[in-house]
Amino acid sequence: MASYTCEVCGMSVNMTCGQCGKELVNDTITKDDGTKVQVSKCPDGHGKIKSPMCCATDMTCAV
Ligand SMILES: [Zn+2]
Ligand SMILES: [Zn+2]
Repeated sequence: MASYTCEVCGMSVNMTCGQCGKELVNDTITKDDGTKVQVSKCPDGHGKIKSPMCCATDMTCAV
């Protein structure tokens, strides 16, 4: 399950696809400058989103 947790305040969110309702899976993409970005994507290929932010930092995936 893609459950993101804020390291600052402890808030967590569960991510699901808006189109099929399935839980998103954790993935990383590499940008042109070589930095890796944590993203969540639909297992059925409906798309991917960047990890959510809270307290001005990226929330991390516990999986
Ligand atoms: Zn927070
Ligand atoms: Zn989907």
